[in-house]
Amino acid sequence: MNKKRIDGFNIRGKKQSLNQPEYCYRCVSDDIAGIEIIGAMEEPLIWECNSCGNHMLKFSEEKTEKLLQRAPEISLTTEEWNSAWQGKPN
Ligand SMILES: [Zn+2]
Repeated sequence: MNKKRIDGFNIRGKKQSLNQPEYCYRCVSDDIAGIEIIGAMEEPLIWECNSCGNHMLKFSEEKTEKLLQRAPEISLTTEEWNSAWQGKPN
């Protein structure tokens, strides 16, 4: 019930960046993509490293969680989420 939706992401650290990070904070890959969450926001809400799967904050944790709460509750597995995200334009 009180589970945070942000917990479904593999977010490390509190570092946040409004612009798409040039490099992954974890593996320093420059293969970064924005993840759009349908129903939450019509622009990327979270950054994802395509190389190691690290997720990075665009907004504060609190704001990200608030926006995630706006998205329809969908009980999908992580795999289904991931495949749903694929093919989304940046
Ligand atoms: Zn990475």
